[in-house]
Amino acid sequence: MEDALEQLDTLAARVRACTRCDDLLECRRRAVPGGGHPHTQVMVVTWCPDEADEAGDGPAGAGTLERLAASMPALTGPARDQLYVTGLIKCVPRTGGVVRAPRADEQEHCFEYLSREISITTPHWILTVGEETSRFLLRKLFRDLPHREGESLELRVFDNPAFKVVPVATPEEIAEREAREQKAYRDRLRALAQRMGI
Ligand code: SF4
Repeated sequence: MEDALEQLDTLAARVRACTRCDDLLECRRRAVPGGGHPHTQVMVVTWCPDEADEAGDGPAGAGTLERLAASMPALTGPARDQLYVTGLIKCVPRTGGVVRAPRADEQEHCFEYLSREISITTPHWILTVGEETSRFLLRKLFRDLPHREGESLELRVFDNPAFKVVPVATPEEIAEREAREQKAYRDRLRALAQRMGI
């Protein structure tokens, strides 16, 4: 039986060759598979690869973590090598050259890859970055929606029998808040990061 690294390599080859989303074939530079520890404690899921990662030739990782470090410094600390970083969709969606949100059909097309990454890497914690990513994944990863429609998800811990899901804000969402709110957010996130072991 293939070990986790071999399974991730096989999956990455499928992602790189994927042509399921017609519109993304026009605007992506390449499909970017997830990357990181093959038996991760913490998986980080953004809504698509960071453009810096897309510009390279490796998996998602360094560019994404550098961008997230503004609001989550723990991600670039000593635990960095223990993380697994991936996108809800594996191609950067653009309209007129500008990055846009993934469409519902693109999220559905690509979810199989993320589901497989979770099965292989068996994370204990999944950080879902941003409101849209979080709402989509909570619908997908729980048989019954674990929250009421419209209520705030941020920094709550949603227990699935196999892992815990924690929605976190994007750096852009944090930057729009007053300084006092930013500090309160960072304090809560720091406490959660300790629980996660990062
Ligand atoms: S977003 Fe996902 S499903 Fe769509 S083309 Fe890219 S890799 Fe394939």
